[in-house]
Amino acid sequence: KVASIGNLNFDIYLRISELPGPDENIEALDLYTGGGGSAANFAVAIARMGLGARFIGAVGDDPLGDISLRELLAEGVEVAVKRVTGVRSGVVVVLVHPDGIKRMVSFRGANLGLTPADLTPDKFEGVNHIHLATGRTELITKAKEIAREVGASVSVDGGTALARKGLEIVRATVEGVDVVFMNHVEAKMLANTGDHRSAVEKLAKELKVGELVVTLGPLGAVAYRGGKLLHVDAFKVAALDTTGAGDSFAAAYIAMHLRGRDLYEKLLFANAAAAIKVTRPGARSSPRYDEVRSFLES
Ligand code: ADP
Repeated sequence: KVASIGNLNFDIYLRISELPGPDENIEALDLYTGGGGSAANFAVAIARMGLGARFIGAVGDDPLGDISLRELLAEGVEVAVKRVTGVRSGVVVVLVHPDGIKRMVSFRGANLGLTPADLTPDKFEGVNHIHLATGRTELITKAKEIAREVGASVSVDGGTALARKGLEIVRATVEGVDVVFMNHVEAKMLANTGDHRSAVEKLAKELKVGELVVTLGPLGAVAYRGGKLLHVDAFKVAALDTTGAGDSFAAAYIAMHLRGRDLYEKLLFANAAAAIKVTRPGARSSPRYDEVRSFLES
């Protein structure tokens, strides 16, 4: 069973033709709502890989929190969720302009109510892998301790929030982690270089982790382990919505990692899962295991 720790959000997408001016009210062309939050997306993607999934996070005592939890349960994800009273659940509003540019406003709300003290060993019963989709170093540090206690492996996808903390903090926080994921923007920010190749090489040297995996959007992904660096191209697809591509990628990668596959197979499979995801709208449209297999065979 795989535990995923971090944010759960209710996403509201509004398609607009122009940005409203001050005090102006415009009409949206279309509305889409659905579950989001990186850790919750990862948990759903893991369940679709056919593995046991448990989401560990926090919601408010409001209707949006109820909806968000119901969506996870409907996907077969177990929830070990803290209810925070007097605080709203996490919400993200995404304005999608016709030029494809997205403008996002995130309210982290109840997500911030999850503290290291909430990560108690009982929540990790039967868990053999812990994934942290959060940049909160205090949660990562506590989860590493628990992982040692319960004998689980650990992966971290800290996003921009972690990369912003700088190399020194990131180095200490992810030390000893089995797999660290980041996208090329975060890798370049952290390595303080404009070129993804030199960023990966620098981070490979600096970070004491089992595997470092850097995703490159339409260029695929690279992984580094024990002196070996491997790049695998992305699949050529018509990308419709890349929201959650990184979560889909990480879940597929971890599913293969737990099956003991080699770097090439993990990267290939994860690129395929993410390629399917980007052809579909929404943050939770990651494919099932069999879909990825048929995609790879076609
Ligand atoms: P994030 O979504 O975290 O920013 P990336 O943009 O690097 O991460 O995308 C993650 C993965 O999704 C990539 O490594 C790749 O496998 C896949 N992907 C993203 N964009 C495309 C695309 N346009 N075509 C095919 N695959 C893509």
